[in-house]
Amino acid sequence: MKKFLPYYPMLKPVIGTFVIALLCGALSGIASGFGLPLMLKKVLPVLFAGTAPQDLELINFDSSQELFGGISATWLPDIHLVVPANYVLIFALLLMPLVFIIRGVAMFGNTYLLNLCGIRVLESIRMKLFTHLQHLHLGFFGKNKSGDLLSRTTGDTMLVKTVLVEVTNDLVIQPFTLVGAVGFIVWSAFQSAATQQFLLSLCVVPISVLPVQFIGKRLLKRSKKMLVSAGELSSVLSESLQAPREIRAYNLEERECSRFRKCVRDFFALQMKCVKYDKMLTPLIEIIAACSISFAVYQAAAAKLDQDTVIALVGALYFAYDPIKKLGKINNRVKEGTAGLARLEEIWQAPIEVADPANPHPLGVVRGEINFRDVTFGYTDVPVLRGVSFEAKPGDTIALVGPSGAGKSSLVNLIPRFYDVSIGSVAVDGIDVRDVRLADLRKNIAIVSQEPILFNDTIYNNILIGRLDATREEVIAAAKRASALEFIESLDNGWDTVVGERGGRLSGGQRQRIAVARAFLRDAPILILDEATSALDTESEAQIQVSLEELVRGRTTFMIAHRFSSIRTAKRILVFDEGKIIADGPHEKIYESCPLYRGLYDQQAMEKIS
Ligand code: ADP
Repeated sequence: MKKFLPYYPMLKPVIGTFVIALLCGALSGIASGFGLPLMLKKVLPVLFAGTAPQDLELINFDSSQELFGGISATWLPDIHLVVPANYVLIFALLLMPLVFIIRGVAMFGNTYLLNLCGIRVLESIRMKLFTHLQHLHLGFFGKNKSGDLLSRTTGDTMLVKTVLVEVTNDLVIQPFTLVGAVGFIVWSAFQSAATQQFLLSLCVVPISVLPVQFIGKRLLKRSKKMLVSAGELSSVLSESLQAPREIRAYNLEERECSRFRKCVRDFFALQMKCVKYDKMLTPLIEIIAACSISFAVYQAAAAKLDQDTVIALVGALYFAYDPIKKLGKINNRVKEGTAGLARLEEIWQAPIEVADPANPHPLGVVRGEINFRDVTFGYTDVPVLRGVSFEAKPGDTIALVGPSGAGKSSLVNLIPRFYDVSIGSVAVDGIDVRDVRLADLRKNIAIVSQEPILFNDTIYNNILIGRLDATREEVIAAAKRASALEFIESLDNGWDTVVGERGGRLSGGQRQRIAVARAFLRDAPILILDEATSALDTESEAQIQVSLEELVRGRTTFMIAHRFSSIRTAKRILVFDEGKIIADGPHEKIYESCPLYRGLYDQQAMEKIS
């Protein structure tokens, strides 16, 4: 449980409700452990005496009698509490519903309030996780599969919540049932010497807790494996749900089904191992307990203990075992929770590598001057950019050209600090990007990428993402400049059309126009066009190109494009090869001086002719 201690403050917002839940639980525990055996002891003789009701002796404690274990208690007062005969039957008949009413209401209060706390705590755990995920740098998402992260956010958080709420509840209230039941047993022991002998023979009972530890260890190991397997399953599922087109186009249906089948089977096999150890615990405890009780009952028979006392004592013993059983189960829940917590901590403890500086340099609207000084960068130890230096003046349009994998996208990703440089620096208006607040920096940058991500929301809200405080007029104006107004107004629901997951209900060209409208709305001095028109057909490309030409005007623009036709507005071209700039200048100049550029350009010109 030690590992969970730092997370208990999550209960703070619901602490009042949680305490009431625990009080209800304690009451129901005492009602079960003490109330029910007492009821059995008192009511059974009355109901089954076969004669008219007699005076009912509630407590008959004689202090001269030797106590449990031979202790003398002559210093205690004698207690005799007797209910008069007239009331005996009514009392006997009312006691049963009364105990069950107290127990039932308290139990309901306990479980209801506990669920309420559980939901709030789960919300806190998931929010903590989600918030951290939102601030982690992109490299983290490269290393972790989205399906697995999904599984941690939904599944593993539940296990941790169970420990913080349900297990804590059981840890507090089960001892009350136990103490209630043991209290009744001890109280009975005060009453007769035969009972004491019966109880002495119960000393073998504690061995019934032995399986708890044995099973707990095995369950922890299996739970860890099962959670990893659940993550795999989610990954396969989310991957295939995100690529239904590709799966059909490449006839991968069977392959996907067998991949999924394997994951499901592995997961179920591990799940069954957990179920085996989890469900094995109760019967094991019960078998051992039954053996020891049976031994004790034999002792009771030998000591000529009366039947009603035996029944009541066995009832009390049952209620004493219930908490032991539950405490055993708690051990299992804690082991499962520990496995889940370890996986959540991998996320919580992942450092936010790209973070705001301690003393950020204020940054308003920038002019758009950008300086790369001797930049070396790599996703791993292998650099993908090596000693890159150049300067972009405000308003420059720079095209990045080079073979695939040369490092063009990696370079533009350093400007909004999606990643940080390993060596060197990137500066905007002469200020190192690591010295300003991320939000201030990114406010100055608009990005249009190859596959714009639209959220499953209305077209209006999808454009509004560009600048959340924009007015309706500004959103409409941005759509107009992006040549998107016409198609938006022709849709049945117009601006209120919901675009579907990832914008699936729109065409590629329409999605891209929304992305361009977002960039117009953002009106940022720095613009990054990363293969913005590569996924489009030539007709859509030509239409969007007109809007893009207007968009780049007056902004420092970085353009990555495979098609040379789309970089015609660039006055300056940087040619990349293996992470280095090998040529820098206008088209005419580098066409003459750079064989790699000339080769790429001519190859495309040839393809166009053929
Ligand atoms: P380009 O844009 O010129 O095609 P990139 O900048 O995308 O090239 O990639 C440069 C190199 O970095 C490639 O070798 C690529 O495999 C690698 N790379 C790109 N993105 C990642 C990533 N998220 N994690 C690890 N390696 C990456």
